Amino acid sequence: MGLLTNTTVGLISALPKGLVRRLASRYIAGEELPEAITRLQKLNADDFTAILDILGEDDGSGDEAAAIARARSAQGQYIRAATELAGAGVDAYVSAKPTHFGLRQSEDLCFELYDELADHCAQHDQFLRVEMEDHPTVEGTLSVFERLLRKHANVGIVLQSRLFRTGDDIQRLIGAVPTGHRLQVRMVKGIYLEPASIAHTDYQPIADAYVEHTRTLWAAGARVSLATHDDLMQPRLEALRAELDVGTDAFEYQVLMGVRPPLWRAWQAAGLPVRVYVPYGPDWHAYSMRRLKKNPKLLQQMALGIFAKS
Ligand code: FAD
Repeated sequence: MGLLTNTTVGLISALPKGLVRRLASRYIAGEELPEAITRLQKLNADDFTAILDILGEDDGSGDEAAAIARARSAQGQYIRAATELAGAGVDAYVSAKPTHFGLRQSEDLCFELYDELADHCAQHDQFLRVEMEDHPTVEGTLSVFERLLRKHANVGIVLQSRLFRTGDDIQRLIGAVPTGHRLQVRMVKGIYLEPASIAHTDYQPIADAYVEHTRTLWAAGARVSLATHDDLMQPRLEALRAELDVGTDAFEYQVLMGVRPPLWRAWQAAGLPVRVYVPYGPDWHAYSMRRLKKNPKLLQQMALGIFAKS
């Protein structure tokens, strides 16, 4: 951790929790579902579709039984959230992390929880996104997703351009799509800092891989959610879209609530569909601190965002 990051960690850790909460409210929609739904409704009123994430992931604490109970409880919260979204008529779907659904305890458990949630979402005509976490979880996540893909048309995955393995994973998923289903991928750079032996670590190769993977996916007929706030990479994606004549049913942009809103408003004004990712949950403080420890650069970004005028 560099000096600046150390200093920033020290400063933020020293702030009262209430103040940090106020600062974090730009990025996190509160602790309870009704607060999150109000944020989603505001976004819908501004013509943004949305994604709802309940903050949480397996932190490895406690025994096996406790971890399994936490995973089941998390899935129950997602079922309730999907029901409430439908009841409120909100244009949003839910997105969940595999370790939040017990991946570290058992792939079968993780599959079972996503499987039930996918059925529930389908009843409400909703989509379900399986998120991607750090590299030790990637293989398990893909195995769970392949099983889901065989059963459900309303599920999608996240792939990270930072990882060397992603090109092979794309070919594997293209080969696994059953007739009548479509591969639906949220393309990201990858938020976890991974070792140089398995991942690109510099900006340019990560951005180049992002564009190339998107090309492969579009060429194979996949629907790609372009999750980025990168104003340098986005024109390359638009040029690629024009080159491949990608229709409006095969893409959208996805952004994080609070991160560079002027940029995504400009994209929307240019006629591009933009979906906003909205996290909420009582676990926001512990969750934010865990994520910041995994990638301290996030703290600097958050601190910059906090102290920015926009
Ligand atoms: P950045 O790379 O942060 O770029 C922002 C700006 O900085 C741009 O202007 C860019 O051009 C510039 N820039 C940055 N570095 C350089 C440099 N070195 N040189 C020149 N210019 C530079 N990650 C996961 O791992 N799993 C997930 O499930 C996941 N879900 C996500 C869902 C959504 C909706 C979004 C938006 C992101 C998600 N992410 C996820 C996070 C993602 O992986 C990225 O970490 C995050 O989006 C930051 O990358 P970026 O492309 O947005 O922009």
